[in-house]
Amino acid sequence: MNFTLYNSLTNQQESFTPIDKGVVKMYSCGPTVYDFAHIGNFRSFLFGDLMRRSLELGGYEVQHVMNITDVGHMVEGEDDKMLAAATRVKENKKSGRVPEGAIEDPNDPYQIADYYTNAFLEDSRKLGYKVAYEYPASVPKATDHIAGMIEMIELLIQRGHAYVSSDGVVYFSVESFPEYGKLSGNTMDKLQSGAGGRVSDVNQSMKKHPADFLLWKPDQKHIMKWDSPWGVGYPGWHIECSVMAKAVLGQDRIDIHTGGEDLIFPHHECEIAQSCGCSGESHFANYWVHARFLFVEGEKMSKSKGNFFTARDVFEGKVTGKPVHPAVLRFELIKSHYRSNMNFTTKGLTDSAATITKLIDFRAMLESKTGGKAADVDLSHPVLKEFSEALADDLNIAGALGVMHGWLKTDHSDAELSLAVWQKMNSVLSIAPINEGLAGVETASPGGGDDDEAETWRKAMVEARQNKDFATSDEMRDKLIEAGYDVQIGKTDVTIKKKLA
Ligand SMILES: [Zn+2]
Repeated sequence: MNFTLYNSLTNQQESFTPIDKGVVKMYSCGPTVYDFAHIGNFRSFLFGDLMRRSLELGGYEVQHVMNITDVGHMVEGEDDKMLAAATRVKENKKSGRVPEGAIEDPNDPYQIADYYTNAFLEDSRKLGYKVAYEYPASVPKATDHIAGMIEMIELLIQRGHAYVSSDGVVYFSVESFPEYGKLSGNTMDKLQSGAGGRVSDVNQSMKKHPADFLLWKPDQKHIMKWDSPWGVGYPGWHIECSVMAKAVLGQDRIDIHTGGEDLIFPHHECEIAQSCGCSGESHFANYWVHARFLFVEGEKMSKSKGNFFTARDVFEGKVTGKPVHPAVLRFELIKSHYRSNMNFTTKGLTDSAATITKLIDFRAMLESKTGGKAADVDLSHPVLKEFSEALADDLNIAGALGVMHGWLKTDHSDAELSLAVWQKMNSVLSIAPINEGLAGVETASPGGGDDDEAETWRKAMVEARQNKDFATSDEMRDKLIEAGYDVQIGKTDVTIKKKLA
């Protein structure tokens, strides 16, 4: 299967060729475990999962690694890193997100990290994020790789890519790596002031270049600290991914690196500088693939706006007023293309619930006919061929879902064959076996006839059509007609009117 992916390194869609035939080595930047992962985080993680599963459907063996950032350097600010995390624990206890009794000592970073690591794995598994099932083998923790980080920093110093400043801090020297900036476009001449990343660099004047970034910071007083040739302290953030990718995937150069678009700079730019500086390879990852931001009802997610949602807030009904099955959230988060900003809406969740209910009901019908027996099927089946080709085309999920919706309407007299096709599609969509308890999931129903509701549906249809998701648009049209609306589809707009008689 020929895949194409949009490579952020070249800013174009490229044909995908793995280093080793048939095997894909893929790394995704994982969560910082000082709070619950929010739906924006999961949008980015699940896009990686969709890529992995699509490649697997296409016949590749995928070795997928995702790290857990549990070193205490991820909270901004200099003196209050743990204070901030501890404050958040208290907030989360107050809101009931963290039960009383959990995290006994909110000032112990290991307890905090442990608690949120487990919460993350639990949420991820509910959402069908495959790599979470491969913990700990494919999900390394930064605190388990400190020795590897020290080793890589030593090599970088030996090779002239890093130096110890007069105050003892170890920095990567961007001037030693002329290609710095090739991923983000933030070349050295453009970087006027410090951009070291999430670790605040107080001693800016000690650096050779303002863009030099921290590799190791000696700090006796820091709450998480390790011994090193540069004194007791802690590593910079970027170094952990360079080290863990190599340690777990077993080579200096890998095929695919994914993350959210906010990680392109400085994080991924710095990963490239460290990994290539150390290995001498021209590339760290051959394909850098990034997911765009998630918005909530058209707005940026923020705590101050009250639209900042964790996955569990959604599961528990804190967002929509009723519990949402994880399969519905998964579907909602994967159904828009990774290179479009995703707009998370209550309406979208309702639509996803309707689609999933339909798919689960359909499977139940097939299973009752076949007793659960499925035929043998491969990608030469015309429907699966089309479905997998859409996904191979830079993860065109709307195209793949369109194929699926079209297929549902066809003849299914060979129920064993249809069940097999359903299962193959589900290997990517992964709405089951995480479908337990789906009964009672709210489905879309455009009844009632009030104007606000019609307007919501109209907007959703226009949006689906703009995204070329005609299957969803058609589905909505059918439902509206069924509910007594007159629907007119124009070139750029849709008109919906309640039929008077
Ligand atoms: Zn990373």
